[in-house]
Amino acid sequence: MAIVFSEISYFKDPSPGSLPMDYQTFLLSLAGPTVIDITGQDASRCRVITSLLHGNEPSGFIAIHRWLTSETRKPATNIRFIIASTEAACLSPLFSHRYMPGGKDLNRCFGSRENSGYYLRARLIADAINRVSPEIVVDLHNTSGSGPAFAACHGINANVLSLTSFFCETIILSAIRLGALLEQDFSCPTITVECGGCNDELAHELAYEGICHILTCETTRYFHQEREVEVVYQPHRLRLKGDINLSYGGQYSGAPGLTLKAAIEQYNFTGARRGEVLGWLDHLGLDNLQLTDEQGKDIIGEYFSVSGHQLLCATEMRIFMATAIRDIAINDCLFYVIKTGH
Ligand SMILES: [Zn+2]
Repeated sequence: MAIVFSEISYFKDPSPGSLPMDYQTFLLSLAGPTVIDITGQDASRCRVITSLLHGNEPSGFIAIHRWLTSETRKPATNIRFIIASTEAACLSPLFSHRYMPGGKDLNRCFGSRENSGYYLRARLIADAINRVSPEIVVDLHNTSGSGPAFAACHGINANVLSLTSFFCETIILSAIRLGALLEQDFSCPTITVECGGCNDELAHELAYEGICHILTCETTRYFHQEREVEVVYQPHRLRLKGDINLSYGGQYSGAPGLTLKAAIEQYNFTGARRGEVLGWLDHLGLDNLQLTDEQGKDIIGEYFSVSGHQLLCATEMRIFMATAIRDIAINDCLFYVIKTGH
């Protein structure tokens, strides 16, 4: 399938009856990135909700489809829904590909000077957001592995916390720059919500409830928080170096590179204590791994140690986005860590 990077389809106020009733058919009916504009009661304001930047993270898309096919009430303001990586999501089986084989991760292509291919697509999506001068932007994703929902942001204030409280109880304030949509300045509160695991019904429900809340609330400024939101600071991305081998298992087997515990995703829920064994390393030890701070300084020794072949936590830490999906762990990161101990 040849991909057209220079086009986005636009629809306005589709009637619920005009859309396929199941989201799979709806996805297959989309020719590429799609913007759906809904006219609100106050048409002078607009809120933007993006989904499917990653083709294997369907909760936002499923929730948007559910709202489009069921809701007849006008939202409080104009809404711009953006559905991004339809080609990747359409590959069989549906919602199994983060991005196209041989292609690029779209959520690593924002804010680039390059102006072709996936960079051009990212620019067109950012333009589509800027054009409506949104009062909020919410980018809906799923966690790589199973885990509780959380949000992420690059700047925090009361409005960001309120917006987060529509979805979940935790927000990560990040300084990591990867070329994600979240890093772009839309001059308004902007959050990413990782709704939970991509096969988790609760994640789809969380996305839907959050969307309904956003669409019906009169103002997104200074309203109360739905629940307390915990802010956690400065995650770091643990990655494999170069083409180090990754496997999963229950003990050291002599495999080259890193063997992660097969049940690694459990740490998304529990965090990890000092001395916890997360996996096993070959003779290269921590040299298999990279963990740097914002200045690029190597900080692997502050977080991890090796004993025998065991990969040990050197401190108490929160763990986010740990995944047993080997492909994502290799190409994106093993997981994010945030120190909680001293
Ligand atoms: Zn994602």
